[in-house]
Amino acid sequence: MNAPNAPGATIDRDRQRALARALRTVLPRRGLLYREEDTRPYECDALTLHRRLPMLVALPETGEQVRRVLRICHERGVPVVPRGAGTGLSGGCTPLPDGVLLSTAKLNRVLRIDPLARTATVEPGVRNLAISEAAAPHGLHYAPDPSSQIACTIAGNVAENAGGVHCLKYGLTVHNVLRVRGLTMDGEVVEFGSEALDAPGLDLLALVIGSEGMLAVITEVTVKLLPTPQFARCVMASFGDVVTAGHAVAEIIGAGLIPAGLEMMDQSATRMVEPFVHAGYDLDAAAILLVEADGTPEEVEDQIAQVTAVLRRAGATRVAVSESEAERLRFWAGRKAAFPSAGRVSPAYYCMDGTIPRKRLGEMLLAIQEMERKYGLRCPNVFHAGDGNLHPLILFDDSDPGQIARAEAFGVEILELSVTLGGTITGEHGVGLEKIMQMCNQFTPQELERLRAIKRAFDPSGLLNPDKAIPSLHRCAEYGRMKVVGGKLPFPELERF
Ligand SMILES: Cc1cc2nc3c(=O)[nH]c(=O)nc-3n(C[C@H](O)[C@H](O)[C@H](O)COP(=O)(O)OP(=O)(O)OC[C@H]3O[C@@H](n4cnc5c(N)ncnc54)[C@H](O)[C@@H]3O)c2cc1C
Repeated sequence: MNAPNAPGATIDRDRQRALARALRTVLPRRGLLYREEDTRPYECDALTLHRRLPMLVALPETGEQVRRVLRICHERGVPVVPRGAGTGLSGGCTPLPDGVLLSTAKLNRVLRIDPLARTATVEPGVRNLAISEAAAPHGLHYAPDPSSQIACTIAGNVAENAGGVHCLKYGLTVHNVLRVRGLTMDGEVVEFGSEALDAPGLDLLALVIGSEGMLAVITEVTVKLLPTPQFARCVMASFGDVVTAGHAVAEIIGAGLIPAGLEMMDQSATRMVEPFVHAGYDLDAAAILLVEADGTPEEVEDQIAQVTAVLRRAGATRVAVSESEAERLRFWAGRKAAFPSAGRVSPAYYCMDGTIPRKRLGEMLLAIQEMERKYGLRCPNVFHAGDGNLHPLILFDDSDPGQIARAEAFGVEILELSVTLGGTITGEHGVGLEKIMQMCNQFTPQELERLRAIKRAFDPSGLLNPDKAIPSLHRCAEYGRMKVVGGKLPFPELERF
């Protein structure tokens, strides 16, 4: 199931014209883009290191139009790359020059809010924040809150199993979705999960969540809604060194506390953000933690008292608690604006997404400081610390090929260290194109083959988002970092590599 074309290949204009003629019959007016000036905005997601122009961009407005586009492409052997808002950070919707980029952004209706069942059923292009906005009159909200929530779509969230600041307490996308409806590459309807607590047959819901657009095109999602907390306060704690801050995170969780949010920023990150957002961060601290408590006023006061006691015992040099809702929002505004702030101080940034055991956060930060010296690039760090999920932001100049190469090598070293420290190469941004080769370190060839077998079960033609997330064993062998258990390759034909 190799990619049906080589990245960087040029667009075959005759094929493009013939396919455009067929697709135009099933798409609305202005629902098909083919001129370079129109397709250019779709050449990448927020991982701008990888860019490829699609042959065509299809912008359907209904599920039936999506189905008909898929059928036409399937019949003609044309690969399809699904796309939501394009805010992904791993190149998951990077298009193919001989393929169709299928955007579901225009399927953007909230179909049903059921306040009694506490669910919302929405089309795939509904923005994450729009779900909470629609549910707010009922005192409900959709809990997973990626920092990109004003733009990213629910289908993109499902496809990446997106997380956010409040996922420590309320769970990731996978814990907050009840049912996903989609279409396979040949246009067949598939449904995962149900609106009930259990579904008949094998429970494949978790399989489609995080499947990076490779199993089915999502056309409808039912999510759980939770009561909006009455009250929240946020603690900002300062630390004199990053290792102590990292240990404090482990101490909080170890004390049996599950804050609504538990985030960490190092000094390089607070100093980058502060001039932009004026969040009131302690710029002398080597690292700060933001810890949120939510619930009834009594629950919040009780948890704040416990959290501040643990933080002080763990070595915090300063502890400040938000005194108003405006101050709480200001503390978070700084954290949520970390990525845009990076864009403000550097021509480009490369956001990494490894996950490591919480107790090893400090160790990782020290290693990253070493890597900054080795590669000659700055790297502010923000973390979903409670989840052990790192977001090092490698700053570089994308007009300088040397810096691009160093940024990529820096990123690979962080991911490999994440695996060595007992973690994983992705926390919430997916594998996409970006980390596909690190899958060779993370998984054995047998495990990768099982993942490919799942892909084949849903997409035997291998046409749906074909060159993402699961590397072929030959690519791993060429990469030279095949994870081998027991000292022997399981597939004898690979021994020659
Ligand atoms: C500033 C910024 C902050 C961010 N913060 C966070 C964060 O806190 N937490 C987090 O988890 N992520 C974060 N992200 C990453 C990104 O926003 C998420 O991965 C998000 O889920 C992507 O949604 P999207 O609609 O933009 O999807 P896209 O980028 O368009 O696509 C992402 C993947 O979903 C697939 N896909 C899209 N639509 C469909 C569909 N209809 N059917 C099947 N597959 C589909 C694509 O093929 C691709 O593999 C951030 C990104 C930015 C730029």
